[in-house]
Amino acid sequence: MDEALAKKLRILADAAKYDASCSSSGAPKRTAGKGELGSTTGAGICHAYTPDGRCISLLKILLTNYCLFDCAYCVNRRSSNVQRAKFTVEEVVTLTVEFYKRNYIEGLFLSSGIIKSPDHTMELLTRVAKSLRRDHGFRGYIHLKSIPEASPWLIEEAGLYADRLSINVELPTEVSLARLAPEKDGAVIQHAIQQIGERIVEAKAEKRRFSPAGQSTQVIVGADTTTDEALMRKSALLYGSFNLKRVYYSAFSPIPDGSTILPLKSPPLQREHRLYQGDWLLRYYGFTPDDVADATEDGMFALDVDPKLAWALKHRAHFPLDVNRADREWLLRVPGLGARAVDKIIRARRHTRLRLEDIARLTSGLKRARPFLIAEDYRPSGGLTDRLDLRARLADPPKQLSLF
Ligand code: SF4
Repeated sequence: MDEALAKKLRILADAAKYDASCSSSGAPKRTAGKGELGSTTGAGICHAYTPDGRCISLLKILLTNYCLFDCAYCVNRRSSNVQRAKFTVEEVVTLTVEFYKRNYIEGLFLSSGIIKSPDHTMELLTRVAKSLRRDHGFRGYIHLKSIPEASPWLIEEAGLYADRLSINVELPTEVSLARLAPEKDGAVIQHAIQQIGERIVEAKAEKRRFSPAGQSTQVIVGADTTTDEALMRKSALLYGSFNLKRVYYSAFSPIPDGSTILPLKSPPLQREHRLYQGDWLLRYYGFTPDDVADATEDGMFALDVDPKLAWALKHRAHFPLDVNRADREWLLRVPGLGARAVDKIIRARRHTRLRLEDIARLTSGLKRARPFLIAEDYRPSGGLTDRLDLRARLADPPKQLSLF
């Protein structure tokens, strides 16, 4: 690769690292040596999960980090004093194909600052995907960040070639958008997300191709005062009304020469983690937005206990639940029991009465589950479920991330 192209790659991969629609935002940071590939931070390779659960490597870059807009939280904003670069369509196509042939990547994640106009930018993004598919027979995964203000026909064409389209919500309220991204319009963003959602449904019904891996979005956490409860309610709306596959929560990180209206510090990473757990409760555990709100304290998830445990501690009267009798919907509320463990319990109890050691084999979260369940040979003793110090006993050790 010639030095000029390598330099653009360094700049535009680095500029893309704040975009969280990619699972490497939660992955340990790996940094490649000089001239190497394989960094989650500098050289543009990130990891994402396909709809069938496979983890794949993506070339994650911006087409350009020039931008007409001046969103306060963005390192690429118009007034930011960063080094700028712009790929041509052909350069992105060549890089993608070459990396793909060498097995460095299995796909492309392409976003962009807005140059000239939303339509012009969207057209360039679409041309990359179109050229990859048509001129090079590229079969890899393509995720295109779409521009909300772009014309519908451009989005239609993008969906023909991309596996996934996404539009960033960025900030969950109009007030925050007006303050931190005054050139963005929440109603336009929501309308664009809605249109993509409708097109995906139509295309499925008509058996034609349009963003077959669905659409996702990203919301920035901690750049404004939006509570976790408000974020969860926004996500519930996006999942319920617009058929989104994923909402990504991206903890705000202070940027070089950041605007003075921004916080000086990132929120704790644990907050991002709790939001993902709350999101799972909405999507896989049958919690309503009100239930999830009920797991918060003053609208915020506790950092020391996961949201499901927080909810159970508030509603101890519902527990302990008998694993040999309780409905699936209620077993899903037992802290420490994941959806897979619950399904295994339901299958297993058709043949036998489950004892505590059976549950121990089905979940790694037995410590959290014990105060909330009854098994054939076990019942919480000594008023364990109601003990005042139960929360302290079950809280995550500081800095340790718990999975449920
Ligand atoms: S439009 Fe996108 S790239 Fe441009 S400043 Fe706003 S967030 Fe950054």
